[in-house]
Amino acid sequence: MNDYLVKAMAYRGFVRAYAVNATQTVSEAQKRHDAWNTSSAALGRTLIGSLLLGSTVKGDDTITVRIQGDGPGGAIIATSNGSGDVKGYIQNPHVSLPLNEQGKIDVQGAVGTQGIFSVTKDLGLKEPFSGQTPIVSGELGEDFTYYLAVSEQTPSSVGVSVLVDTDDSIKTAGGFMIQMMPGADEEVVAALEERLQHLPKVSSMLDEGKTPEEILDFIFGDEPVAILEKMPVQFKCDCSKERFASGLISLGTQEIQAIIDEDHEAEAVCAFCDNKYYFTEQELAELKQEAVKGNT
Ligand SMILES: [Zn+2]
Repeated sequence: MNDYLVKAMAYRGFVRAYAVNATQTVSEAQKRHDAWNTSSAALGRTLIGSLLLGSTVKGDDTITVRIQGDGPGGAIIATSNGSGDVKGYIQNPHVSLPLNEQGKIDVQGAVGTQGIFSVTKDLGLKEPFSGQTPIVSGELGEDFTYYLAVSEQTPSSVGVSVLVDTDDSIKTAGGFMIQMMPGADEEVVAALEERLQHLPKVSSMLDEGKTPEEILDFIFGDEPVAILEKMPVQFKCDCSKERFASGLISLGTQEIQAIIDEDHEAEAVCAFCDNKYYFTEQELAELKQEAVKGNT
């Protein structure tokens, strides 16, 4: 089954709901970055949260989530857009910690408990919107929830989870985001919060074969859920050799000449997707010419 996200509403539109199966997306990220289990879960949860946030913006508009905690995983960065594409990386993909006291993957241990959770939204306006909150948990679902409540003043509940197999491959990955609109009935909010407290992890529900639609039905119980949109999601990076060439040109002629003298070639690696781009000595010489033009 291919990954997809559903957008829905309930309680006459006072509650918006999103759910996503991102198993293949997180699996692709795990393979590209050769991520070990704890790093995979931390990166995967960030990718899922980014997809959920990204599903609230239009087409090409982007959302970048940066999590800079004090754990061994280092920074985690993910960028998504309104079309369901997401890319991302974790600074140290090789973190594998013992399970935590609950017998779960210790994401908090990899992320840390102190640091900054920030989101930048590029909505095609002059200035991108940017907000940040402190890391409150390091388990990430709570951090997304806290960010939305404090920075965007949207009472929400975000659940993100990744089930990693014993061979480090991704078994299932997914999440949900429930948002209360202004005017939502307080009893409704309380009842939902109560249900969410006792909700099994999304990755477990996916592992049982539940679809994103069925996960929302499960969350809302007897309340009908109206599905508004179903959108495919995928790991997709927008890097290209041209983009890295522009980066080399911007280094300037001296720097390019230094690379030619020392290495006679250059290899650029995309941090987001691990794709490699090679530049021969001839190509570097051409880029140097471009840099000369740029200077005059
Ligand atoms: Zn890339």
